[in-house]
Amino acid sequence: MIQPAARSPQVDSSELSAARAVRILGRAIRLHCPHCGSGGILDGWFKLQHRCPSCGLVLDRGESDYFLGAYLVNLVAVELILTAIMVAIGVATAPDVPWTFLTWGGVVFALVAAIGCYPLTKVLWLAFDVILRPVTSEELALGREDTRAVVPTREP
Ligand SMILES: [Zn+2]
Repeated sequence: MIQPAARSPQVDSSELSAARAVRILGRAIRLHCPHCGSGGILDGWFKLQHRCPSCGLVLDRGESDYFLGAYLVNLVAVELILTAIMVAIGVATAPDVPWTFLTWGGVVFALVAAIGCYPLTKVLWLAFDVILRPVTSEELALGREDTRAVVPTREP
């Protein structure tokens, strides 16, 4: 029989505290590494580095479809905000609702907000994962051994 500790790494109960979750989310909101808090994890607006340059955490945590959840969070958040804004404008301007403005403004807002929030939702997705699945020392060691993000030196 396999003991639970043998299947997953030991997690200290203090690792699952609310203060830890707030600290991790605070780092993510600043677009820093949720694990160590260092910056520089973005590789442009649409891409994260392969691993954190400071702690070595592999930012997709070794899963090829890791950020599908971030796309979903981005879509749902933008659509909820857009809906709330459109309803507020509709209620405030009734009965002369500016339907043309809402239609085209909604399209523009949805595109701009989805692109603007994209890096934040990716880092927040990673932060939620780090909160629920704390980073292990084995995972960090694998990240340090993985040289995909290291710029190769020029051969003589
Ligand atoms: Zn880090």
